[in-house]
Amino acid sequence: MGQIEPIARMVAQLSHLPGIGQKTAQRLAYHIVSMPLEEVRDLATALYQGRKAIRFCAVCGNYTDGERCTVCADEERRNGQICVVRDPRDVAALERMHDYHGRYHVLHGTLSPMDGIGPDDIHIKELLQRVQEENVQEVILATNPDIEGEATATYIARLLKPLGVRITRIAHGVPVGSDLEYADEVTLSRAFEGRREM
Ligand SMILES: [Zn+2]
Repeated sequence: MGQIEPIARMVAQLSHLPGIGQKTAQRLAYHIVSMPLEEVRDLATALYQGRKAIRFCAVCGNYTDGERCTVCADEERRNGQICVVRDPRDVAALERMHDYHGRYHVLHGTLSPMDGIGPDDIHIKELLQRVQEENVQEVILATNPDIEGEATATYIARLLKPLGVRITRIAHGVPVGSDLEYADEVTLSRAFEGRREM
């Protein structure tokens, strides 16, 4: 209301971002309008170029700006462990705790029959292939402790059993229904240490 078109457009775009309501979007838009033009250009360029540079790691599905992500490219990381997570944000959360030295596998989703997401829609096949090819000793299932995360972990555990690999599930240190992403490092560390056999 009473807003000139260019600002209204900025507000509309900003309010699409998670956690940004109308009020915050307005505050940000007016702030951006008051910024020096070069700073706005740098901000826009960083967002655009950053987004353009990011792709998925050919091995684990994590975000990368190269062929392989920093974890997969790191020769020091243990090959025998694969920690399975829902999306790249979970890798970032687990890396913050600095306790884990194995590798990851990003599913890019969890099983959710209600939303029509089945085993072929997430990267389960790729995980099975890696377990068979990479001399893996342990697969740690670190999907979120909500209904879909549990169902996904159970499903994957059943598929992996015949392969004779150790399968563990992170402990319920993370409050049920919450995202790994929002858990603090101590909680994550505990959930990881307290993992149990499946
Ligand atoms: Zn990777």
